Amino acid sequence: MNLNYTAEELAFRDEVRAFLDEKLPADIAAKVKGFRRLSKEDHQRWQKILNEQGWYATHWPEEYGGVNWSPVQKHIWDEESSRYGAPRSVPFGVNMVAPVIIKFGTEEQKQRYLPRILTGEDWWCQGYSEPGAGSDLASLKTRAVRDGDHYIVNGQKTWTTLGQHANMIFCLVRTNTEVKAQEGISFLLMDMDTPGITVRPIITLDGEHEVNEVFFEDVKVPVENLVGEEDKGWTYAKYLLTYERTGLAGIGISKAALQHLKELATRRTKNGRPLIEDASFSQRIAKVEIDLMAASISNLRIIASVEGGGMPGAESSMLKVRGTEIRQTINDLARRAIGPYAIPFVEEEMDLDYDGDFLSDENAAPVTPQYFNNRKLSIFGGSNEIQKNIVSKMILGL
Ligand SMILES: Cc1cc2nc3c(=O)[nH]c(=O)nc-3n(C[C@H](O)[C@H](O)[C@H](O)COP(=O)(O)OP(=O)(O)OC[C@H]3O[C@@H](n4cnc5c(N)ncnc54)[C@H](O)[C@@H]3O)c2cc1C
Repeated sequence: MNLNYTAEELAFRDEVRAFLDEKLPADIAAKVKGFRRLSKEDHQRWQKILNEQGWYATHWPEEYGGVNWSPVQKHIWDEESSRYGAPRSVPFGVNMVAPVIIKFGTEEQKQRYLPRILTGEDWWCQGYSEPGAGSDLASLKTRAVRDGDHYIVNGQKTWTTLGQHANMIFCLVRTNTEVKAQEGISFLLMDMDTPGITVRPIITLDGEHEVNEVFFEDVKVPVENLVGEEDKGWTYAKYLLTYERTGLAGIGISKAALQHLKELATRRTKNGRPLIEDASFSQRIAKVEIDLMAASISNLRIIASVEGGGMPGAESSMLKVRGTEIRQTINDLARRAIGPYAIPFVEEEMDLDYDGDFLSDENAAPVTPQYFNNRKLSIFGGSNEIQKNIVSKMILGL
């Protein structure tokens, strides 16, 4: 195992840096680095720039417009783009439904959907979870009944991230109630403008509109929108989740969050001295920094093993648990660093062009919303408890 970059990889890193220096819009980078709110338009603008460079679909085969980077190249991209303050791509189209369409879709589906994902014409959202089906996803109840050339869909999805921006949704639906739960599920693509689909916002603890409920009432979906075979959707769903879990550790973002924490602790004072000089607080920062370095090395180990032809197994679950715990610890320390200013927070301060008085200061504005928002990290993409179950099964054989 070699954890050092080769000369080619270093040259690639230089190319990435030159691109980010030249093309990353300063206003978008300022929002990302300041942990501020990004608009739909910000995401679309950055996507367009990446697509023009040919770097939007990093792991698609070249024949479909991807770059097919190696795991090390993807890692370099993640590290550098986080460091520069580039937004992470909204994953539902490019990283989730696209790999499924590429592997299991028809030629027509590939021709129709893949180019529209690249150009940003379609914004996808993910319709897996339901009020009674989260960790136990196979118990989902949204029903699709075949009626001639269509399916008629009835039911509800929930926690649908950025569904308010989406014009397309990929859903797991029940097409057979006579068989074992996992065997009666299908994977359907739906146009969000189809009559009978209603999107309702869920406002989260940080006051943001990030997730939604989506209701389906007698929604008519053409059968050609079925991916793969009827009742085989569970296989495709699991394939998609392997893509969802990669990158959830968010090492690059945690490095940026740690830097932000250090800046906060340098500006805040305790008994007249910068907080970062306080022995107990600086020890806590040092501990999380060491944990982050260890997670970063584990990440590189996994990348080296994938590069050598291995498959990430329990390691990606371990990394998801550690990575998300680290991020939540950093958020918690930032919350402690701003002390009483963490209790109330002003939503408008999250806009970069906010010109009112800050409750504390500009730097502290995103601390509490971040703290609340990132409670999600240990829940979505398979909760941390579920990841621990996977680790205990795969490694301890329990
Ligand atoms: C911000 C956010 C965005 C999301 N975005 C999307 C999206 O875009 N699309 C989508 O389909 N879904 C999305 N989800 C849903 C997410 O996948 C589910 O929340 C997650 O799978 C957990 O399901 P649940 O919320 O129903 O909790 P439950 O499954 O009810 O779990 C409740 C608690 O019990 C624990 N638990 C459950 N089963 C076990 C077990 N067997 N062993 C040990 N502990 C267990 C869980 O870890 C958790 O702590 C999102 C969730 C959040 C919070």
